[in-house]
Amino acid sequence: MKTIGIIGGGQLGLMIAEQARELGVRTVCLDPAADAPAFRVCDDRIVAAYGDAAALEELCRRSDAVTYEFENVPGDILIPLCEKYNIPQGYKPLYDSQDRLREKSNARAHGLRTPGFEAVDDEASLREAVRRLGLPAVLKTRTLGYDGHGQRVLKTESDIAGALPLLAVPCILEEFVPFDSEASIVMVSDGERVVSFPVGRNVHRDGILDLCIVPAEVDSGVLGRMKAQSERFMRDCGYRGILAIEYFIKGDETYFNEMAPRPHNSGHYTIEGATTNQFRELVRYLVGEPLQEPQPVAPAVMKNILGQDLEAAEKIAAENFPGVYVHLYGKTESRPKRKMGHITFVGMDAARFEAEWAGRFVK
Ligand code: AMP
Repeated sequence: MKTIGIIGGGQLGLMIAEQARELGVRTVCLDPAADAPAFRVCDDRIVAAYGDAAALEELCRRSDAVTYEFENVPGDILIPLCEKYNIPQGYKPLYDSQDRLREKSNARAHGLRTPGFEAVDDEASLREAVRRLGLPAVLKTRTLGYDGHGQRVLKTESDIAGALPLLAVPCILEEFVPFDSEASIVMVSDGERVVSFPVGRNVHRDGILDLCIVPAEVDSGVLGRMKAQSERFMRDCGYRGILAIEYFIKGDETYFNEMAPRPHNSGHYTIEGATTNQFRELVRYLVGEPLQEPQPVAPAVMKNILGQDLEAAEKIAAENFPGVYVHLYGKTESRPKRKMGHITFVGMDAARFEAEWAGRFVK
C-alpha cells in the first residue's frame, strides 16, 4: 500500500485524505494544530510547524510521495527535501505563486494576459504607479495574502493615505478590472497529459469565494480559450500535479488573477458534480496511476459555509435532500468568515439556487 504525505491538514488535506482512502492509499499529514481537520481521516499524523525541517523530513521518510495543501512552505526547507525525496510537484510552482509580482510576471512571460501591475515599496513608488496605471487600482501585499486579506481598493487619490500601512511590506499595485465575471479552472498534469475540470464561475463576498457555479454560464468561446491557454500554460511552465488558475472575464478577454498549485476551493464541486474529482486525480498522479478525464455529471452550485452559515448548513444536512451534499470540516472553532464547510447542490443552476436556497444563508 502506498503512502502520500500531505504538508497541511486543513480542509484540502482532509479531502485529499478522504479520496486517497477510497483509492486504497494511506496518508500521513503534517500540521501545526493538533485538531487539524485532516487528522480525523489520515492514517498517520505529525504535529509540527511548517518551518520545522526535521518534522518535514520525517513526513517525507514516512511517504512514497509528498504534496502540499499549504502554499507558504518556505523554499529553504522544501528545496533540499525535493532533492532527497519524492515531492513530484517540486518547489517551482510554489515559488512562482508565493509572490504576486513573480506570479503575474511569470503568467505574462508565458503569454497570459494580466491586469497592468507595478511593484511598489513606499509612498513615492505608489504615487508613481497610480500615475502610470490610473485609478481605480488595487494595492496588494506581494506575499501571504489570501481571501482578500492584505489588499485595498484605491478609488481616488484620497484613498492613498489610508492604504499606506500596507506598505510595511513590499506590495504590488494592480489595475482594477471591472470584470463581468470571475472564473477558475483546475488542472492535473502527469507531465505528459493535462486533464482539466469544467470551469466554474465564481462569486465572491468580502473577497472570499461564496459560490461556484458550473457550467460557468459564460460564452463558450471564452471558456474554450481559457481551457486551451491554461493547459498550454501548465505544460509550458513544466508544472506537474495540480494547478488552479483564477481569471477575471471582461467581454471576450480573460485576465489571469492568480494561481495555486494545490486543490482549489472552486474545485470542491467536482466531488459530486463530476465523474472524478480534483482530490482523486491528484492522488492518482502522486501514486503513478493514469489520470482520468473528468466529465460533468450535472449542473452544480457549490456554496461555501463560513462561520456565520454553519447553523443553516447543519439544518440543511439534517433535512437530507437528494442531490444536496453537505461537507462540514469539523473545525473546532467557528468564526465569521472562517471556512467551516461547503455544500454542493447537484442538478442546480444559479437562478434556482437564488430562488430556492440563497435565503437560508446569512446575507
Ligand atoms: P485575490 O486575493 O487577488 O484573488 O483577490 C480577491 C478578490 O478581489 C478577487 O477575487 C476579486 O473579486 C477582487 N480583485 C482582486 N484583484 C482585482 C483587480 N485587479 N480588479 C478587480 N477586482 C479585483
